[in-house]
Amino acid sequence: MLVRLIKCEEGAVLVMVATGMAVLLGFLALVADVGFLYLNRVQLVNAADAAALAGVWHLPEDPGEAKAVAREYALTNGRADDEIQIQTVDGDRGLQVRINRQVDLFFARVMGIDRGRVGAAATARIWGLAGARNIVPLGVVEQNFEFGHEYVLKAGSITPGAPYTGNYGALSLGGTGAKVYENNLKNGYTGFLRVGDRVYTEPGNMVGPTRKGVEDRTSRCNHGGFESCIVTVGCPRVVVVPIIDRLNVPGKSEQVTIVGFAVFYLQGFKSGEITGRFIRRLVDGEKGDVPDFGAMVAALVD
Ligand SMILES: [Zn+2]
Repeated sequence: MLVRLIKCEEGAVLVMVATGMAVLLGFLALVADVGFLYLNRVQLVNAADAAALAGVWHLPEDPGEAKAVAREYALTNGRADDEIQIQTVDGDRGLQVRINRQVDLFFARVMGIDRGRVGAAATARIWGLAGARNIVPLGVVEQNFEFGHEYVLKAGSITPGAPYTGNYGALSLGGTGAKVYENNLKNGYTGFLRVGDRVYTEPGNMVGPTRKGVEDRTSRCNHGGFESCIVTVGCPRVVVVPIIDRLNVPGKSEQVTIVGFAVFYLQGFKSGEITGRFIRRLVDGEKGDVPDFGAMVAALVD
C-alpha cells in the first residue's frame, strides 16, 4: 500500500511538472511575441515621426510634395509592406502619418494566432517663426515673396529709390554704429528678436562693413551653391531676416516693427547692396501663430 501510494504521488508530481512546464513555456512564448510586437511598434512610431517631420515643411504650399516626401521617409524607415496613410490636417498646416504593419508571430502559432497587427500615428505641424536669435541686421519690407527669386536685402548706392531718408535697410540691433552692424551681419545678433518687437534703423550705406559681413559668410560656406546650401543645416549663407512694416521712415533712425521673419540665401553684394534669394525653410526658434514669411518651425503634435 505504501509503495502504491508513493507511485501514485510520483505520477501526480509528473503531471504537475508537465503542466507547469507547459504553462511556463506558454508564458515565455507570450513574452517573446509581445516583445517582438513591441519592437515593431517602436519602429513604426519612429518611422511615423520622421516621416511627418520630413514632409511637413512643404506645407501649406505643396501638399502633394509633403505627402510624397513623408511616404518616402516612412518606407525608408519602415518595411516595404507597411500600410501607410498620409493626409494633411489643420488647413494644410499639419501632416498626419499612419503606419500599420502585420507582424508574423513565432510562438503564438501554437495557439492558432499567426499574425499580430501594430500601428503608429504621428502628426507634425508648421508654424511661422515667432522669435529667434542669430538674426541678421537687415530689414526687408513686407511683400509677397516667391521661391528662388532675388530680392534686395539691403539697398546700396546702385539701388533705385535708395536711400530712404538716409536708410538703406540696415537695422540697429543691440547697439548702434557700423562695427555693431558688421558683427551682427557676420555672426547674427545674439539677442532674441520677436514678431511685434520695435527696432531702430541704422542709417548709412556702410559699404565696407557690408562687404566684410557678406564676404565672411560666403567664405565660411563650402556647400557648392544655392541648391545644396538651402538644404544644408547651418550654412552661413542662409540667413534669417526680419520682415518690417516700413522703411521709408520720416527721420534717419526710426523705429520700425518686425512683422515676421523670412529666410534668404545670400546671393551677392555690390556698392553696399545685398541681394538674396527667397526660400522657405525650417529654422530653430520659437513657434507661434504669426504671419508666415517662409521662416518656419515644425514640431510633432499629439
Ligand atoms: Zn552653403
